[in-house]
Amino acid sequence: MRTRLAILGSTGSIGRQTLDVVRAHADRFEVVALAAGYNVRLLQQQVDRFRPRLVSVARPEDRQRVDAPTVLAGAEGLIAVATVPDADLVVIATAGHEAIRPTLAAVLAGKTIALANKETIVCAGEIIMAEARRRGVQIRPIDSEHSALWQCLSVHHRREELERVTLTASGGPFRDTPLEQLAHVTAAEALAHPVWKMGSKITVDSATLMNKGLEVIEAHWLFDLRFEQIDVLIHPQSVVHALVAFRDGSVVAQLAYPDMRLPIQYALGYPERLPAACPRLDLTAIGRLEFEPPDLERFPALQIAREAGQAGSTYPTVLSSADQVAVEAFLRGELRFIEIPAIVRAVLDRHHAPSGPLTLELIAEADTWARAEARRHIALASLKR
Ligand code: MG
Repeated sequence: MRTRLAILGSTGSIGRQTLDVVRAHADRFEVVALAAGYNVRLLQQQVDRFRPRLVSVARPEDRQRVDAPTVLAGAEGLIAVATVPDADLVVIATAGHEAIRPTLAAVLAGKTIALANKETIVCAGEIIMAEARRRGVQIRPIDSEHSALWQCLSVHHRREELERVTLTASGGPFRDTPLEQLAHVTAAEALAHPVWKMGSKITVDSATLMNKGLEVIEAHWLFDLRFEQIDVLIHPQSVVHALVAFRDGSVVAQLAYPDMRLPIQYALGYPERLPAACPRLDLTAIGRLEFEPPDLERFPALQIAREAGQAGSTYPTVLSSADQVAVEAFLRGELRFIEIPAIVRAVLDRHHAPSGPLTLELIAEADTWARAEARRHIALASLKR
């Protein structure tokens, strides 16, 4: 029996690679629903190839441009795809805050989830993980570091035996750039990531290490770890993706060539390891694996994210939303690279989390507030120059 998939964000980088995995294992997976944004042409090609029964697009006016049995649109369409009755597994690869409600809906519908979207756990980890636990819903991470942690923990999973975990970071394109030059780096330079080919927002986040900070918050929620247990190491070769240290001093690490199709395939095929055509790891060809602690002066975003994660409530939402606005301004040439973490810090400093339990409404309010506040600080920063 084939696993029936619903994929949200099918035309994005992770969505396309998910369909590569489906194509390579057509005997194991079938696609029953797809949701995409604005790339209707690519979506139609995917529909022709994979024949999903349900499809959703971002804009209602694009519905008539897609030829599929059922075509929906907007937030309602995303939720319909996330909860489609005949799917066994829902892949969440939609970018940004839009993924939060559909992911919660999929959890409430009892779907197993393969999660690539960061904001869902960063902003709403408290809500999503509590509901998933209550319903016995499995959330399988697709991000390479969390997939690695998941694989390391499955070797040995008694909680009391676990001491610490380490997430690795390549260090991005500016790992060795002299600090005084960081003020002048351009968007094109930030987008030239040395290892991974990704979307522009996450590539800039990798250059500031905000991405790793967000991953620390995700690891806290996904694996029920205290922040003090989660370390970050710079590892330029990006071959070791995560390490788990146990109380007897043993460390289990996951190594692989950096290729997102591996964590995607692991999440889709779990608990089975399916064959893959990717290149085999050749340690003699790589020669050496280097590790160094992150330079927090160079990468203040890492510490800012950690503090927002520890503060909890709506602080991680403010972190993620302010960063999104700051990165977009940097990509437009309206903000300097080193001002990105400064803007995020300034917005967080002005935030007062609401009292009482976290809700999706409070997250949405914090998101709106943080975006407006970030825009205000960006305008102020440009006035000062
Ligand atoms: Mg990652």
